[in-house]
Amino acid sequence: MRTLRKRSLIYGLPVFTIVSAHSVEVVGRTFEHKDTLKSSFKLWWKGESWKGKYRVGSPLLPRLISYCAKNKLRLLVDGESTASEATESEFDYESDYEQQTIQHKSVKGGGQPLQGFSLPVETKALGFVTESVKPSETVSDWGQFESLLGNDTPYSEARQEQQHLLPLITEKLQEGYKNIIVECPTGSGKSALAYWLPLVFDTSVYISTPLKGLQSQYVQDHPFMSSAMGRGNYDCALSEAELEELDLENCSAANAPCRVIEGFDCPHALKQTDIEEVMEGLPFETVCGYYDAYAEALKNRWFIGNTTYLTAMKMFGKPNLPTRPLLVVDEAHTTAATIEKFCGFSLSRKRIARLLYGKKPTQQESNEARLNHDFPSIKSMKVDTPDNERRADCIQILLMLRALVKEVEINLKHRNYRPDEMADAKAFVQHAYMMLSELQHNWKKWVYQFDDDDVKNVLRVEPLSVAKYAEDCFLSLGNQRVFMSGTIVSPEVFMEELGLNPDESVYLKVTESTFPSKKRPLALSQKGGLMIWNKEAQGIQFSDLKKTAEAVAKIAKHYEGHKGLILPYTDGIESAVVDILSDHHPETAARLIQHTKNPKEREETLRKFKEGDGDGILISTYANQGYDNPDIRFVIICKLPFLSLGDTKVRLKMQHNEEWYQTYTVRTLLQQYGRAMRSKDDWGHVYVVDAHFNHWFRTRNIERLIPPYIMDAMK
Ligand code: SF4
Repeated sequence: MRTLRKRSLIYGLPVFTIVSAHSVEVVGRTFEHKDTLKSSFKLWWKGESWKGKYRVGSPLLPRLISYCAKNKLRLLVDGESTASEATESEFDYESDYEQQTIQHKSVKGGGQPLQGFSLPVETKALGFVTESVKPSETVSDWGQFESLLGNDTPYSEARQEQQHLLPLITEKLQEGYKNIIVECPTGSGKSALAYWLPLVFDTSVYISTPLKGLQSQYVQDHPFMSSAMGRGNYDCALSEAELEELDLENCSAANAPCRVIEGFDCPHALKQTDIEEVMEGLPFETVCGYYDAYAEALKNRWFIGNTTYLTAMKMFGKPNLPTRPLLVVDEAHTTAATIEKFCGFSLSRKRIARLLYGKKPTQQESNEARLNHDFPSIKSMKVDTPDNERRADCIQILLMLRALVKEVEINLKHRNYRPDEMADAKAFVQHAYMMLSELQHNWKKWVYQFDDDDVKNVLRVEPLSVAKYAEDCFLSLGNQRVFMSGTIVSPEVFMEELGLNPDESVYLKVTESTFPSKKRPLALSQKGGLMIWNKEAQGIQFSDLKKTAEAVAKIAKHYEGHKGLILPYTDGIESAVVDILSDHHPETAARLIQHTKNPKEREETLRKFKEGDGDGILISTYANQGYDNPDIRFVIICKLPFLSLGDTKVRLKMQHNEEWYQTYTVRTLLQQYGRAMRSKDDWGHVYVVDAHFNHWFRTRNIERLIPPYIMDAMK
């Protein structure tokens, strides 16, 4: 029989075999974890740390390693630290925007444009309308689009949804609507719509996707599309002598003089003044590989990139990405959050040290960074923090950031960075300038929070809403915009989030799914525990966690031989469910597959799970959306995906508009539901086992937010 210990070996957790028992010690900010460390991990508080002994092969050890990595606790096994260099918080990312782009060289082709359709010269405020689309009804006006299909194009036939939506979107664009919001279920063929639209109008488009994976899918299906180009993929074309004169050597385009030397005017670069001619298809001759690719991408009818990259190129690109007639945003429900992350600021102590001393600062350098550029002595903003205190805190944050930016600028000027560090430092400075002035002038609309007020590893400074910034940062990439998603849920909330004028917007809602509801039931009958905060237990009650684990075991047993996915939503629930299953249902526990928060390890685990055989069950707080694995036959949603009201920003946004909070929850729930079934011939069963579901659904009148084809699937 397989055991959790064997799985742990497979997924790379260390195992020690020389001694018969391991001594373990957990140090750091353990207070909030005290109950888990005591009851789940059988550790005891000994003076200043939690200590215990595990027999060799105990399943508790790999789980404790995973738990400590997730919760940033330091774990010593037999006196050795288990922390690896790469175990960092999600916030501790490097923010050179080009890192998340895919490299793709477009091929010729792409199909012939249609004749007779044109976009309006000006958009109009025609008043908000909603139109329902029923794919099962007969389409009368598809004929004029028929020639888009053919053997020399990626599509030889159109789905029913596409036959309805393409004529309708075309009509609304022609009428002069600025924003077309399209809600259509999984399997509607959104990417074909993004491909066809610029052909219908014989024009050009930016296609934005939130994820690198989706971007790869687009260029795989449409190899003639042009994807964003990361500068790091091209060598700088300046000669060694020219670079030496500038005190540089061996540059890629990412750390070339045009990127890192303010005001450097390279004769090989594409200039703002060249843009118009390039867009008209005129040749642009340059020896610079990066700008050659940039010019080619600007000529391509389809320019595809992830939302963050397109936003950065719109704001900081040299030259800025120009406006195109059309912008198509795929998975548009994520756009506001992505722009929020872009406009906001997340700074960790590790990043400060890296910005000052390079990628691998020594302990002494980290200490110096902390001494000279530490976070201010303030507490996280709360809902009731008085205005005068907020203002004073924001001033302190501004002073700290200004001093840091100044130091980084000096480092850049004196070339104190290695070539591969320069781009990140430059991106930091650009980003900081954008945010500093907003924080100074609009501090009332911003929220600042530490990950932990005592430890202060990460400072997050974020706008409460991006409605004011979305147009300039991103949306103005397209004169007219088509937003597509399966989970818009509330067009009102969607428009408010992005600052769209309802009078310039139309909402097209597909109300049927071509995926048979019998093959994709959403089961509510298997009840687990009540996954809500209990005041007495200061958390979710153990008895409820136990009920949930029991429900998970029962469902998992039913699907022996099939792969599954458990979505616990929080690390605490994941840990508790794994623990209870190990104690009471070892056969289910043996099927479990966990990953840590280390992005590389996580991607590797997800890949192995997808490619592997067997009936493994992935338990993950990460796979709520965007994770595709066609072999998954059952999904268990342990807890309704409410945003944490402990977060000041969430609480303030909810106070402003409760509908936003419920919309967000429903969107995540529908995304979770979508993990089970990705094509018409597929099947997948989804279980919501949170016993709080019925109460929430009834008292918040959630039915109005659920698409009819999902209501049909509820059992
Ligand atoms: S434009 Fe090209 S050749 Fe000139 S500095 Fe930049 S990367 Fe180098």
